[in-house]
Amino acid sequence: MKIVRFEADNTINYGILAANEQIHVVKGDIFNNTFTETGEILPLNNVKLLSPCVPSKAVCIGLNYHDHAREMKLTLPEEPLIFLKPSSALNHPNGTVEYPAISKNLHYEGELAIVIKKEARKVPIETAENYVLGYTCANDVTARDIQMKDGQWTRGKSFDTFLPLGPCIETELDPHNVSIRLLLNGEVKQSSNTSNLIFKVAEMVSFVSQVMTLYPGDVILTGTPSGVGPMQVGDFVTVDIEGIGALNNTIVGEKER
Ligand code: MG
Repeated sequence: MKIVRFEADNTINYGILAANEQIHVVKGDIFNNTFTETGEILPLNNVKLLSPCVPSKAVCIGLNYHDHAREMKLTLPEEPLIFLKPSSALNHPNGTVEYPAISKNLHYEGELAIVIKKEARKVPIETAENYVLGYTCANDVTARDIQMKDGQWTRGKSFDTFLPLGPCIETELDPHNVSIRLLLNGEVKQSSNTSNLIFKVAEMVSFVSQVMTLYPGDVILTGTPSGVGPMQVGDFVTVDIEGIGALNNTIVGEKER
C-alpha cells in the first residue's frame, strides 16, 4: 500500500495511491491502522504532494553501504554512526532545495528512509520491525564544505529545505532487496541496491531506540551508496527507489525570508 499526504483545496489529507494514479482519500490515523476511505477519489495530477509524514526528528545513519565504504576506502563501522536533521529542514516532493549563500559545495545523498509506526524505546532487534510503518525516499542534502569545516555535522546537514521526503510511504516493501538510484538532470549518479546496507533495518531501529524514543512519523535515513557529488542552482535531482517511486526536487538560490 502506498500512503500519500497531500494538499487540495487548501486542505491537507492522507490518501492511498492506487495503481491508476488515483488517490483514495482517507480519514483517521494512518499510523495505528484505524483509517477508512471517505469515498472521495482525486487524480494525483490535481493535488500537491507533501512529505508523506511530518517527523519530530530525522535520525540519519552515517556510512552504511558496502560500496560507499569501498569508494571512500573506509573500514566498516562496528556500530551505526548517527546524527540528526531538524524538523525545520523538512521538504516535499517537487519542492525547491535552497543552495545556502555561505556554502560552495552542496551535495546530494540519495537514501532509503524508514518511517516509524509507533513509539519505540529500547526495542530489541527481534521485534524492531513491528515499529516500522513503511519506507520512503529521502535526499540527505549536505553542505559538504561546511560539514568538513565544522567537524560537527549539524550545520552542514540542517539548513532549511535539506530534508526532502516522498513521494509516498510504501508499507509492503522488502527494504533489503530494492534498487536505489539518484539522478541529476536525468543522469544516473548513484546506483546501488539496499542489499548492500551494512546495518539492516531492525538493527538501525533498535540501535537508535536505545538512545532516543522514536515517535510515529519519525524517520531514519539509512545512509547513502557510492557516487555522492555536487549540485548547482537549476539542477533537477531525483531519488528513485524500486517499489516506492521517484522523489523530485529542484535546486534554487537562497530565498529571502
Ligand atoms: Mg547521508
